[in-house]
Amino acid sequence: MEIFFSDIPEEGLPISGKLNPAWFQLPEDDPIRISGDVEYDLTLYAFDETVVFSGHVRGPVELQCVTCLEYFPWEADFPAWQSELDIEQRQVSFDPREGLRDEFLLEMPTTPHCDEMIDDRVCPKVDLLAKFEHDETPLEAGPEPAGDDVWGALDQLEKD
Ligand SMILES: [Zn+2]
Repeated sequence: MEIFFSDIPEEGLPISGKLNPAWFQLPEDDPIRISGDVEYDLTLYAFDETVVFSGHVRGPVELQCVTCLEYFPWEADFPAWQSELDIEQRQVSFDPREGLRDEFLLEMPTTPHCDEMIDDRVCPKVDLLAKFEHDETPLEAGPEPAGDDVWGALDQLEKD
């Protein structure tokens, strides 16, 4: 899709469409996964050195929780989308999908926590830590704590 700056009228140029997941070219281990088409419904405004994108952008993604490292689904929805594209001096046209791709990724939360972003979700890692901290009964019943046995075994190894 190529748009010439000269084609953008003063009142703005409406554009809409979809970016498919492949367009984002994210590596498989990226903390962001685009799980479906990202839809955009925008008006473009041309100024001397920038084009302003204004409208609605949304799409389904999967984000990697920084605590449990699990991917969880999230609907990225930006009903009041605003972004800008800088224009090079001799540039006459541009592909709005390129700027949109980069800006969309920049809008993703940088430290997502699954339990903060999904209602009623308990982060498995947080849950595990909470259980561990509140559990006062020893992990192993016995005359000696398990830890001593480990050090004893180590001592034995060093003597050999
Ligand atoms: Zn989590």
